[in-house]
Amino acid sequence: MYINGRWTPAHNGATFPTVEPSTGSTITEVPRGNAVDIDAAVRAAERAAVSWQFTDAVARAAMLRRLAELVTENADELASIEAMDSGHYLAKARELVAALPLWLEYWAGAADKIGGRTIAVPGNKLSFTLLEPLGVTAHIIPWNYPLLILIRSVAPALALGNTCVVKPAEDTSLSALKFAELVHEAGLPDGVFNVVTGYGEEAGAALAAHPGVRGITFTGSTETGREVARLGGQHIAQVNLELGGKSPLVVFPDAALDDAVEVAVQGFCSRAGQVCVAGSRLFLHEEIADRFLEMLVARLEMAEVGDPFDENTQMGPLASKKHYDRVREYIEIGKQEARLLYGGGRPSQTARGGFFVEPTVFVDVPKDARIAREEIFGPVTAVMRWSSVDDLIATINDSEYGLFAVLWCQDITNALDTAKRLQVGAVMINDWFGELPMAPHGGHKQSGVGREEGLEAVHGYTQVKHIGINLDRSLAKSTDWAGAPL
Ligand code: NDP
Repeated sequence: MYINGRWTPAHNGATFPTVEPSTGSTITEVPRGNAVDIDAAVRAAERAAVSWQFTDAVARAAMLRRLAELVTENADELASIEAMDSGHYLAKARELVAALPLWLEYWAGAADKIGGRTIAVPGNKLSFTLLEPLGVTAHIIPWNYPLLILIRSVAPALALGNTCVVKPAEDTSLSALKFAELVHEAGLPDGVFNVVTGYGEEAGAALAAHPGVRGITFTGSTETGREVARLGGQHIAQVNLELGGKSPLVVFPDAALDDAVEVAVQGFCSRAGQVCVAGSRLFLHEEIADRFLEMLVARLEMAEVGDPFDENTQMGPLASKKHYDRVREYIEIGKQEARLLYGGGRPSQTARGGFFVEPTVFVDVPKDARIAREEIFGPVTAVMRWSSVDDLIATINDSEYGLFAVLWCQDITNALDTAKRLQVGAVMINDWFGELPMAPHGGHKQSGVGREEGLEAVHGYTQVKHIGINLDRSLAKSTDWAGAPL
C-alpha cells in the first residue's frame, strides 16, 4: 500500500489474492488493510492537507501535468495491468489509458481558474465568497473501470487543494498501486495521495466512517452507496454517489438502423455490460422491431468474445467469479420471465477457468420482469416493444434508477421532447456515451447524488466561505443591518 509517501504492508501483514478473470488463476497477493491502516492514511492526509491547500494552484497544476505525462509514458504497462486484473480487453484498455491524461490536464487547467463570487449586499460593504478545499477526501473505487474512476475523482480533488485516500475494489487493486508509483515520481508531497487496499467491509467501511474524512466519492452499487452515505453521515462528510442504472436505449421508427444496432451492441456488450450506463433496456418501436432484431442477431454473431490479450477480442470476461455467478443467475431468471433470443450460455472458445458469458438478448420481456428492472451488470439486454411515446416515457421513468438514456431518432423535436421528459442525469441523441472530463456525469433518483466531471464536479470537492467587510470604518455609519429582525 502507499501511505504518507511510503510503500507499506498491512500493519498486521495480512494479504489476499487478486485473480486474473480470464483464467481464474491468482496473479499476486495484495495487502489486506483494515481500520488501523485507514487511520494511518487519513492522519497522513490530514497532516498533508495543511500545506497542500495553500500550495499555489499553479504549482498543484504543474504536478498534475507531470502526472499526466507519466501516465502516457507508462501507458502500455497500465493497460496490461487493467487487462490482466480486471479483464478489460487489451485493445480497449489501451484506448482508455491513452485518454486518461485528459482528466489530469482538464483539472490542472481548472486549478487556477476556480473561485468564488462577489455579492451585491446593501451598504458600503464588500461581500464575497472563497471556494476552499474540503480537506481529506475518500475515494472508494469499483472494479469495472478501476483507473478511469480513480483518476476522474482524484484529479479534481487534488487540483482544488484536497488530499486523498483511495480504497480500490478488492478485485482490481493493481492499477491504483501502479498509479501511486507515478504520483510519487510526479513529486506530490508525502501524504497528499494514499492508497489502502483491502475489503469493502473492512477498509472501505473504515474509510467512510473515519471522522477525519471530509468528503467521500463513491462509485458502485446503490446498496453499498446507501451504506457509505450512512457512515459518512455520522460525521457529516460531503458525499458524492455515482450508483447503478437500468438505462434505456430507445429506437424510434425513423432511426438510422445500422448505427442504432451498433450502439445497441455497445450498449450492453461494452466492457461485457459492466458499465453503469449500460443500455440494458432496449425499447424498439413496433414498426422496426422485427427488422432490428434480425440485424442485431447478425451483428452479435460476429462479436469476438475471448482472451483479453488477443488482438481480435471485442469482449472479455466478467471481472470476478462472484460477479459471474450473479450474472448467470440473472440469465436463469430471464429464461423464466421472457423468451431467450440469443446467447445465454458460455462462449465455447473461451478458457475453461475464465468468467466468460455470451452476449444475451431476451425478447417479449414484461415491463415488471426482474431482468427489466434490476441492474444485471453483464452482457444481457431486455427488449421491449413500444408504440406510444407517452407509454414509453412512463415505462422508462417507472424505475428506481435515473442515470442515462440513449435515443435513436432523426426527428429532433421528438428526440428533445422525449429527452426533456426522462428522469435521468444524461441523454445522448444519436450517439453513444463517451465519458469526458468536461461533461457532467451522474444520476437522478437512486442512481446517485452529485456530479463527477465537468465544472459541476467542483461542488463535490469544495466548500464555501463567505467574507464580508464593512468599508465605512465606523459602525455608527453602517445602518443597513440595524433594522434586521434579530
Ligand atoms: P460495491 O458497490 O459493493 O463495491 C464498490 C466499492 O465499494 C468497492 O471498492 C468495494 O470494496 C467497496 N465496498 C463494499 N462494501 C463496502 C462498505 N460496506 N463500505 C465501504 N465500501 C464498501 O459493488 P460490488 O463489487 O459488490 O458489485 C455489485 C454490483 O454493484 C454490481 O453487480 C453492479 O450492479 C454494481 N456496480 C456498479 C458500478 C457502477 O459503475 N455504477 C460499479 C461496480 C458495481 P470491495 O471490492 O472490497 O467489496
